[in-house]
Amino acid sequence: MLYQQIDMELAEREAWAWRRQKGICCNRRLFVLACMDERLPVEQALGIRLGDAHIFRNAGGLVTDDVIRSAMLTTQFFGTREIIVLNHTECGMMTTTGEYLANALKEKGLDPANVPIDPDLPELKLEKEAFGKWIKMFTDVDETCEKQVELLRNSPWIPNDVAIHGYVWEVENMRLRRPHIRLSDRVNTAKSMGAMG
Ligand SMILES: [Zn+2]
Repeated sequence: MLYQQIDMELAEREAWAWRRQKGICCNRRLFVLACMDERLPVEQALGIRLGDAHIFRNAGGLVTDDVIRSAMLTTQFFGTREIIVLNHTECGMMTTTGEYLANALKEKGLDPANVPIDPDLPELKLEKEAFGKWIKMFTDVDETCEKQVELLRNSPWIPNDVAIHGYVWEVENMRLRRPHIRLSDRVNTAKSMGAMG
């Protein structure tokens, strides 16, 4: 009967729309922190689809107060059990320093120490020399990836039993890898199999 098909579709649509009200988590119970870079296709990199994860993207894919805020909500209240951090090679966050950016902004007439970092929360201002810490430019993507995992693991806002892992997306060959482990470093060497003696 047609009405049965229609009712089923309506039920599916209701379940989708009312997920939060019903306490249903995302399909994979997963929170992803990733860089905003257009060369990082988060769903493709992780093999996930719409509905599978809560995805937070910012410059660098770095732990900030709003990442903690979002990760806390999804792990403490929405049923998320896993966090994956995605950083990537050739990240724009590696192209300059915080000091350079602070000076560049001052030249544009914006003094980072005098402008609230959240327009809706004027209490949040940077101390005089804190811009560099806040902007979080970095030089090594592998170290940075591991550091973000540690920051999340050590955050009291996130339950201890949440699984947290980080990966690096190689924009040059569109592949994912673990921090510090490049397959190409070991291809055609004995290291990949262990020495044969
Ligand atoms: Zn990036």
